[in-house]
Formats: sequence, C-alpha cells, structure tokens
Amino acid sequence: ARPVRVVVLGSGSWGTTVAGLAAHNTPTLLWARNPDTAAEINEQRRNSRYLGDRELPEGLRATSDIVEAAHEADVLVVGVPSHAVRATLEQIADRLRAWVPILSLAKGLEPGTRLRPTQVVSECLPGHPVGLLSGPNIAGEIADGMAAAAVVAIQDDSVATALQPLFASKVFRVYRNTDVLGCELGGVLKNIVAIAAGMAEGLGVGDNTRAMVLTRGLAEMTRLGEAMGADPRTFAGLTGIGDLIATCTSPASRNRRVGEALARGLTLDEALAELGQVAEGVKTAPTVMELAREYDVEMPIAAEVEAVVAGRRTPAEAYRGLRKVAAGHEQ
Ligand code: 13P
Repeated sequence: ARPVRVVVLGSGSWGTTVAGLAAHNTPTLLWARNPDTAAEINEQRRNSRYLGDRELPEGLRATSDIVEAAHEADVLVVGVPSHAVRATLEQIADRLRAWVPILSLAKGLEPGTRLRPTQVVSECLPGHPVGLLSGPNIAGEIADGMAAAAVVAIQDDSVATALQPLFASKVFRVYRNTDVLGCELGGVLKNIVAIAAGMAEGLGVGDNTRAMVLTRGLAEMTRLGEAMGADPRTFAGLTGIGDLIATCTSPASRNRRVGEALARGLTLDEALAELGQVAEGVKTAPTVMELAREYDVEMPIAAEVEAVVAGRRTPAEAYRGLRKVAAGHEQ
C-alpha cells in the first residue's frame, strides 16, 4: 500500500520538530508561511530561526503553498498558534479529503470564542476525526534526539492506534487517551502556571515556593477541568502534571521566559519583543479567568497571572497575593 502522507501546518519550533519525527516514519510535508523558511528547510535541512543549527531529517520536505500541502494530506497536523488556527484552516476548507484525521498541537484557547483548538478545527473542517498530540515536549530537546513521551488524544481509539506509529520512535513514546478535553486543557492551563513559575524564578523565590506554585497550579487546573467535564485523573498524566513540570522548570519554555522577564521589570510588550515567539499563556490567561468565573471555580494563581499580564499588578505584588490566597486552602 502507498505510505501515509503526513502534512504539518506551521514551521515554528514544535511544528518543525513534529514534522521531523513523522519524516523518520513516512513521507512528510511541512507548510511554512514564510517562503524563505521553506527554502532553508529544503536546501539546507535547517530551520535556523526556531531550531538553530539542528539538522532536520533528509526526508522532510517543505512548501509555502498551503493549498498544495492540504491536497497531499492523508493526516493533517495543525501546528500554528491557537489564535491563528481558524484563519489558517479557512484557507484549506474545501481542499482536504473528507476522511483525513487532524491532530492539533496548539496549547491555547481562541480569543473571543474561548474554544479549544480541536473545537476550532471541527468548526472549520467539519466531519473529520479531530484530536491532539500533547505532552511534556520542549521542542529543542526532541529535535536533539533526547527521550520523551507524548499522548495522542482522540475520541476514536482506533484512529489513535493508526496515528501512534507515525510519530513514535525508539526515543519518542506515544501513548493514547480518549479524554480529549482533559488532555487539551492540561496543555492550555499549564502555560499560565508556567508564567507564574517564571515570575517566581525571576524574583528569586525559594524551592518551597516553586513547589507550591506547581502543586497548587495543578490543583486549580484539575478543578477547572473537572468542572468542564474532563476526567480529573487525566491531569495526573503526561498532558497534565508532566507538561506542567517540563514547562515550569525548563529555561527554554517561552511562557516561563515571559514570567521571568516580567519579574525583571520589563513591560509585557518588552517581554514579548525579547522573546520573539508566541507564549500562549499570555492571551489565554484572561480567557481562562472568564471560564473560571463562568464555572465558579477558584483559580488564585491564574488570577494573579492575569492581573500581572493586564498590568494591574507587579510580579512582586502577585507573589504576596499568591502566598496569602494559596495558604488559605486545604491541600
Ligand atoms: P512553551 O510554549 O512555554 O515553550 O511550552 C512548551 C511546551 O508546551 C512543552 O511541552
């Protein structure tokens, strides 16, 4: 049989890395919005803006023609930021064959609609099986070939079983989970806690404070997830605490770096300019606080992060607030 062709939309650090994983297993095409990025990948096997001088697998091809890319897809991976998913998919709405499964990589909520990326995908491309790939996956480490694991979350387990081997390798283990909501929310919510962890790092707080932020952060992620209908046990897995630990502790995390920069006294605009990439937690924090109010769930850490991001509090003030609020709750 003809091999399954994987198409990845979005040539940021994670989209490129996932395309590289797939290219080891099956013919893979990466869509880059910027033609220079596509050319660099094809001609030099590098994506220097996002992955430095790391060498990409030989079989990986790139294009800046999204219609051509969509036309090739047997499996579509959506690796653009959450706020860009809809505009990207609208360009290929009638170009995809009807049964093609779609996996989202995005870890944010759509501003305004508050929809999860898989929900946006389903609206733009109705009738397709839609799931996500998520886990503690700092792109650079995986591009370097270090061992890691991720989860394919999709309602239909037989689709997950078919997708699993396309991304797996000896050092990249792929699990399956049917709790799409819980897996997706884990990736979304951990970014906000990572901004808090970055602020802690920047303020030079202690190890106890860091442990408190992670533990209480996980508690509020789980509370909102359960209120929205997710299985609370999902938050104890790779897409929950796993991704929370990786993102809050890795100096490479974009969300953590934004938190650190804010604690150094930079404004949000300065912090984002210094980063030069998307930190999903920044736009997601106010949206999550809307959900927290709607579902009547207490999220004191997310509330402090939202207040700092909105410019109503400094990181130092937020940490005083966090200590006070967190101390008042039962473990
Ligand atoms: P950042 O977006 O903060 O870099 O997090 C990466 C990530 O989700 C690792 O799993």
